[in-house]
Amino acid sequence: MVNFGYTILPVHILELDKADLKLANSITFDEPSFKLCIACGSCTATCTAGTFTNFSFRQMCHQIKLGESTQAIEESEKCMLCGKCTLTCPRNVNTRNIIRLVRKAKQTL
Ligand code: SF4
Ligand code: SF4
Repeated sequence: MVNFGYTILPVHILELDKADLKLANSITFDEPSFKLCIACGSCTATCTAGTFTNFSFRQMCHQIKLGESTQAIEESEKCMLCGKCTLTCPRNVNTRNIIRLVRKAKQTL
C-alpha cells in the first residue's frame, strides 16, 4: 500500500480546567496579534525549519493555548527566525515576536 505519510495521532487527553495559561496570557499581553491566529497553517506550510525538522508554528500556538508551555518552549528552539511565516500569515500575526517571547519565557519557567 502507498504510504502517504499520514498516521493516527496518539491519544492526547487534556484537562482544560487545570491548564496553566500563564504563558498564553503573557504572550497575548506582549504581542496582541497572537489572538488573531486562525490556525490556517500557512506558516507551517512555508516554514524553513519545518523542512528539516517536525517544527510547526501552528502546533506550537496550540500548545501555548492548551497550557503545554514546556513543550511549546522546546518546540520554539527549532525555529530559525527566518521570517517567512510572518510574510505568509494572512492575519498579520507577528510570528517571530511570538517565538522570541516563548524563548524568553524559558528563563522564567
Ligand atoms: S499563518 Fe498566521 S493565522 Fe495561519 S496558522 Fe500561522 S500564525 Fe496562525
Ligand atoms: S521564522 Fe521560524 S517558524 Fe517562521 S518560517 Fe522561519 S523557521 Fe519557520
